[in-house]
Amino acid sequence: MNDVYLSIGTNIGERYENLQHAVKLLMGTEGVEVERISSVYETAAVGFTNQADFLNIAVYVKTIHSSSEMLKICQSIENELGRVREFRWGPRIIDLDILLYNHENIETESLIVPHPRMYERAFVLVPLIDITPTPENKQLQLAHRTMEQLDREKEGVILWKTIDMVDEFVRFES
Ligand code: AMP
Repeated sequence: MNDVYLSIGTNIGERYENLQHAVKLLMGTEGVEVERISSVYETAAVGFTNQADFLNIAVYVKTIHSSSEMLKICQSIENELGRVREFRWGPRIIDLDILLYNHENIETESLIVPHPRMYERAFVLVPLIDITPTPENKQLQLAHRTMEQLDREKEGVILWKTIDMVDEFVRFES
């Protein structure tokens, strides 16, 4: 089994439902087991700042799939949720990024792991740290050290909803 950390973000429509929907689709994917989910954080948009705030989570999954298969799975979930994106950094219904795949360094045309911008972004690191209380590899240790140096408030990352259990997260309210 491979250990994979994902980052999921959304800033269009029912943001919390978008996150729930994406996680449900992950849970329904054969060969993917969702082990841990971070709390939900709200973050002011970076890059193109004149857009709605994001909700962000990090998810830890165990999977039999290769890194390129995981990328395809993430992209099919983005498509299923009807991602529409007019320009880079613009608003999106859902964005799934692979942060870490085991402790591998991957560089192909379509996939770079560790994610090239993960260490610059508090909205990625704060949720990731939530689900890695004892960082067991160098990449996670770097994430923890980097976060200690970033100013969470200045970076605009606010705890939006505390999540304790995967099951609690995916329960849809009727
Ligand atoms: P974005 O949705 O803006 O994050 O970028 C999507 C593009 O980034 C896709 O074409 C992917 O092939 C590429 N990409 C490169 N590395 C990664 C990664 N670690 N996770 C997700 N997408 C990646």
